[in-house]
Amino acid sequence: MATMQAAFLPGNSTTQLKDVLQPEPGHGEVLIRMKASTICGSDIRCIYHEHLGKGPEGYQGVVAGHEPCGQIESVGPGCRRFKVGDRVIVYHISGCGVCNDCRRGYMISCTSTQYRRAYGWQRDGGMAPYLLAEEKDLVLLPEELSYADGAQVACGFGTVYEGLEKIGISGNDAVLITGLGPVGLATGMLCRAMGSKNIIGIDVVPERMKLATDLGLCDHTLASGPDNVAQVRALTGGEGVERAVDCSAHPAARATAIRATRKWGKIVLLGEGGSVEFNPSSDMIHDQKTLYGSWVTSIWKMEELVERLVRWNIHPADLITHRFRLDQVADAYALMASGKCGKVAVCFDEELTA
Ligand SMILES: [Zn+2]
Ligand SMILES: [Zn+2]
Repeated sequence: MATMQAAFLPGNSTTQLKDVLQPEPGHGEVLIRMKASTICGSDIRCIYHEHLGKGPEGYQGVVAGHEPCGQIESVGPGCRRFKVGDRVIVYHISGCGVCNDCRRGYMISCTSTQYRRAYGWQRDGGMAPYLLAEEKDLVLLPEELSYADGAQVACGFGTVYEGLEKIGISGNDAVLITGLGPVGLATGMLCRAMGSKNIIGIDVVPERMKLATDLGLCDHTLASGPDNVAQVRALTGGEGVERAVDCSAHPAARATAIRATRKWGKIVLLGEGGSVEFNPSSDMIHDQKTLYGSWVTSIWKMEELVERLVRWNIHPADLITHRFRLDQVADAYALMASGKCGKVAVCFDEELTA
């Protein structure tokens, strides 16, 4: 049997390349030739430094990478829709398919302890030349989008789209984004496409603030600090923003997102981990605000997002600042861990030179 090199995350801020067998698709499965595989903040937070994740975020020593996009190389028996040559995004959690959450398309929330397995966490992911995936986990990638665009959709952009659909964004809204990492930048890009004319971003890393400005994703960027609520009010006629999206998971930034939102406004929390402290009466209740939590997305909404990206003519891959070959995977994760970058991708074939 053929072998291939694949990247693993043993912890201690290291990566490891190992030879593994190239998989063959069984019933209902496809083999995907990987083209782009992006690195997520959650890979760094839960796996790369230390294996901290539990349950759905528990890393079981598999091939890393849960944001895969590629082209179908071979198809196992029993597949019903996808065929050799199709360009596909992998929704990054394979669920049981028959629990209530799976039937809603939210495999992220699958309740089966036996069958819920996320790519790159509990089953092999995209940091290898080939990935074995289940046909039911695939989203067709339109010709107008690149594989790198698709990898961005597999986790980050899908997550952002879901959160923004919950709070609703239009040209009426000033939007505050706390945290300008890849998820925050994606938020800026989608809010812009949805019509927002006043997007304010807050971060601590100057490189990220500059990127948000250079790409036209934020109208104003603010260095994180104690005056942020007053600064945001000053940029919004004294009232605060209509919508706020926390992509930082930082306690102070989350409180800023809540307090800098005006009366009747809506806030969504996307950043994972940590805590937040606020005063329900003065910060939420008396101002009639609504606070949402949002975790990943459904596979049908991911399909919908892909259609909208084509309609809006925007390219998530524009947020990728660095592309690496698989044999440079150590540099890719180290850069992502530094935070001094946009999105980082491991690429193959035509996506390496894109
Ligand atoms: Zn992710
Ligand atoms: Zn399920």
